[in-house]
Amino acid sequence: MDPRQVAEHLRLYQELGVTGISRDARWRSREVAIEPEEVTGTPAAGTILSLQEIREDIGDCTRCKLHTLGRKQIVFGVGNPNADLMFVGEAPGADEDVQGIPFVGRAGQLLTKMIEAMGFGRDEVYIANVIKCRPPENRNPDPDEVERCEPFLFKQIDSIQPKVIVALGAFAAKALLKTQDPISRLRGRVYDYHGAQLIPTFHPSFLLRSPNQKKYAWDDLKKALALLDRQPPRQPSESA
Ligand code: SF4
Repeated sequence: MDPRQVAEHLRLYQELGVTGISRDARWRSREVAIEPEEVTGTPAAGTILSLQEIREDIGDCTRCKLHTLGRKQIVFGVGNPNADLMFVGEAPGADEDVQGIPFVGRAGQLLTKMIEAMGFGRDEVYIANVIKCRPPENRNPDPDEVERCEPFLFKQIDSIQPKVIVALGAFAAKALLKTQDPISRLRGRVYDYHGAQLIPTFHPSFLLRSPNQKKYAWDDLKKALALLDRQPPRQPSESA
């Protein structure tokens, strides 16, 4: 690995509080006990479509007013259609609207580093948003927009059937769990969700503004790894 990449990874690992001592059996004793919580009100089961069929169903969507409010394109989702691990965010921002790919701006770059810190590549997981079109001025999506768009996300989840879903930020967590609880109350727990285990954590945009919270996000990601029966990789310095 390039020395600059190693230094950058180490800085992130330090901020996350990654220890990654995978050869030390004591590491396992630090894993959190996870007690899933049952969530009711999950979407009704229907015919499971392929991701391609879902994308075709969306088409050049005009189902909510966001299609008239300056979106450049629909940002469907990206990654492995058979991923065990799925990340769900809120809605595309300016960079995502231009590129048509979720999480490619600054927050997306941090998410990519977090995924890599877990030992995955971006192409091994699946990344999508609750809302597929960019809200103007990055405002929060309106309830009617969520109502029209979230069925596509639910169909994506049904199609991918991930083992673990990480909800990034309050908006995604509230939309998926159908709750108004703040993220501070939602995170730190694991929820049974539509055949998957759902872990709410902070949105990477929030972590860019509040880097001292990264260690808590890393705690959440370690729970996701434990549910996937994986351990964090060793720090780059250990393998470089
Ligand atoms: S946000 Fe969703 S429902 Fe609204 S126009 Fe875009 S794809 Fe359609």
